[in-house]
Amino acid sequence: DIYMNRIKTLDGKVDSYLSVCEETALLQAAEAQKKIDGGNGGMLCGIPLSIKDNICIEGTKTTCASKMLEDFIPPYTATAVNKLHSQNAVILGKVNLDEFAMGGSTENSAFKKTKNPFDLTRVPGGSSGGSAASVSASLALGSLGSDTGGSVRQPSAFCGVVGMKPTYGLVSRYGLVAFASSLDQIGPIGKTVEDCAILLDGICGQDPRDGTSLNYKPEVPYAASVAGGIKNYSIGLPREYITEGLNSEVRAALYKSIETLEKLGAKVEEFSMPSLKHAVPAYYLMSSAEASSNLSRYDGVKYGYRAENSRSYNEMIGRSRAEGFGREVKRRILLGTYALASGYYDAYYKKALKLRTLISQGFDEAFAKYDVVLHPTTPETAFKLGQNTDDPLSMYLADIYTVSANIAGLPSISLPCGYDSNGLPIGLSFTGKPLGEREIFRAAAAFE
Ligand code: GLN
Repeated sequence: DIYMNRIKTLDGKVDSYLSVCEETALLQAAEAQKKIDGGNGGMLCGIPLSIKDNICIEGTKTTCASKMLEDFIPPYTATAVNKLHSQNAVILGKVNLDEFAMGGSTENSAFKKTKNPFDLTRVPGGSSGGSAASVSASLALGSLGSDTGGSVRQPSAFCGVVGMKPTYGLVSRYGLVAFASSLDQIGPIGKTVEDCAILLDGICGQDPRDGTSLNYKPEVPYAASVAGGIKNYSIGLPREYITEGLNSEVRAALYKSIETLEKLGAKVEEFSMPSLKHAVPAYYLMSSAEASSNLSRYDGVKYGYRAENSRSYNEMIGRSRAEGFGREVKRRILLGTYALASGYYDAYYKKALKLRTLISQGFDEAFAKYDVVLHPTTPETAFKLGQNTDDPLSMYLADIYTVSANIAGLPSISLPCGYDSNGLPIGLSFTGKPLGEREIFRAAAAFE
């Protein structure tokens, strides 16, 4: 009730929710209360959560913030949400995103623009901007987002909350509407590192419905391993990430964080990983190529938006896609089909795949020396609404620090590490080796 009331009175300012599930949430809350009264409620029992609107819940609209799926009601529920249901979490509603999770500001939503709770004239980041803003404004206690190139971590940094992307395959993608299947992961957003660990414990595990899901379940819950400190941890800072584009206040916060980590007993050292310089172009080639293929299913025939009064089948498909998709989604489809075209495949897509191997090898070498890799989450703090909408390239370059974890399938967590002179939160990230979530949770919790 408290959260429903907060949503009713405050979400008009933040605009994080696309749909609120009041009836089912109250039923779930009553059920959870019974469990708690009976003394058998688990960690997530009764916990009010929001879910990014590209994660399916049976009987509830899943729009992906696209006109294409404006009226789509999925007949099934994502595995991650099913797990939350079975642990009696309360699902408050579905939250806003960039259309099909493509973007970094949530301004690409076809329905509304979510605002940053720290400054309503600024973006919450994206694409999981609704998730991060809802947690930041206490319109949910936690949230599930999706992260293909930083979409959980970047908005968490902009909104002053904690967000993490798990190792590729740790959380089932069944029921997550695909953007780029080899990069997508569902990830938790919470107010604290421990909250994220609890959420991850609740949603991870192998799923026969996702062929890429890993046969792995942690022996000890992640939530039980956040404590323990980082004495004698060895931490690497990639030199290639200290770029010209790194804002001076973000840079200062990074170096102050390093001092804190050293006081906590860790050893922090710079190292070089030249392949990181190519992460952004490799990411945009691969993710757009996969997106152009994944999005071919929206043809106006099976489901989704269908243009009226077409004279032929082909015209119907063409017009449905022209009218149903927004500008950024079309840009990605064009980029992706171009990169995959037979004459250009070797020059672009194949090169991107080679870079993917190089970046993974670079991280393998780094993790032979370091427990975790440290870096800023974003080069700048939250920007003004509208500031970057006409400049896709500068929007893409803002993903410079986050995309490499997706390319190499690694776990990565972002948490607040200070504020800039405008009072906006600054994010710090720890990236770990494959299935190294324990190490990044520990580092983040010690720092927090
Ligand atoms: N900003 C990145 C993009 O636009 C990341 C998106 C994501 O992680 N879903 O592709």
